[in-house]
Amino acid sequence: MPLPELVKEGERQMTICNACRYCEGYCAVFPAMELRRTFTKGDLVYLANLCFDCRDCYYACQYAPPHEFAMNVPKLLSELRAETYREFTWPAMLSGLFKRNALAVALITGASLVTIFVLVLGFIGRDVLFAIHLGEGAFYRVVPYAAMTIPPLVIALYGLVVFVIGAVRFWRETGGALSDVIDLKAFWRATQDAFGLSYMKGGGAGCNYPAASFSQSRRWFHHLVFYGFLLDFASTSVAAFYDHFLGWQAPYPLLSW
Ligand code: SF4
Ligand code: SF4
Repeated sequence: MPLPELVKEGERQMTICNACRYCEGYCAVFPAMELRRTFTKGDLVYLANLCFDCRDCYYACQYAPPHEFAMNVPKLLSELRAETYREFTWPAMLSGLFKRNALAVALITGASLVTIFVLVLGFIGRDVLFAIHLGEGAFYRVVPYAAMTIPPLVIALYGLVVFVIGAVRFWRETGGALSDVIDLKAFWRATQDAFGLSYMKGGGAGCNYPAASFSQSRRWFHHLVFYGFLLDFASTSVAAFYDHFLGWQAPYPLLSW
């Protein structure tokens, strides 16, 4: 659905929810929604990014299809979120990739693997590529240290810039104020909710995932991915410390930090 129609549909569904309020205990979306009587695009964008897509409000809703109100808050908010990702990303000319996310990731991954393979064959040679390398320094013999660190660093910095620009655009769109940032109590609560994925608990029994029955599995899978990435970042940082400050070259023993 195009953004102007999505915003119109958002106003309609949020106005019905505001009159009903049955779902106000499920997540942060409904208490925030209750602070408004009418909804601007910025309000809807804000609400959409509070939603964890637990789907409890869809399965609980007495106005979901086939009712004529055709309420589907998770679907509406997830479409709005996707629109905000497209709108707030940088550079704008790449925003179309969000529409074909899976295809873009598959193509970029495939092209990257082929490029690395061709570069290694061309610059390092077939003999080194297919040989067995052991001992200190073996880790960098096929892909040299500079080639292994500089491109990922550039990509990581680009990612960081995109995040910061996206956050600033979101902040402007939703009318954020400086006092919100220095409200330490609110900041601490938001951090706890985010790190604990509080709103994937729904009303306490979990998400309606993968179907109508309640389950905590989606919350645990998200925890595993998120904390897995954090551990990955920690182990990479420790390895960088070993390499640059202690002079210990990879590979490191399996049970090292
Ligand atoms: S999703 Fe349905 S049940 Fe929940 S508050 Fe909105 S209208 Fe009411
Ligand atoms: S977090 Fe769950 S209950 Fe809240 S709006 Fe999203 S899908 Fe509905």
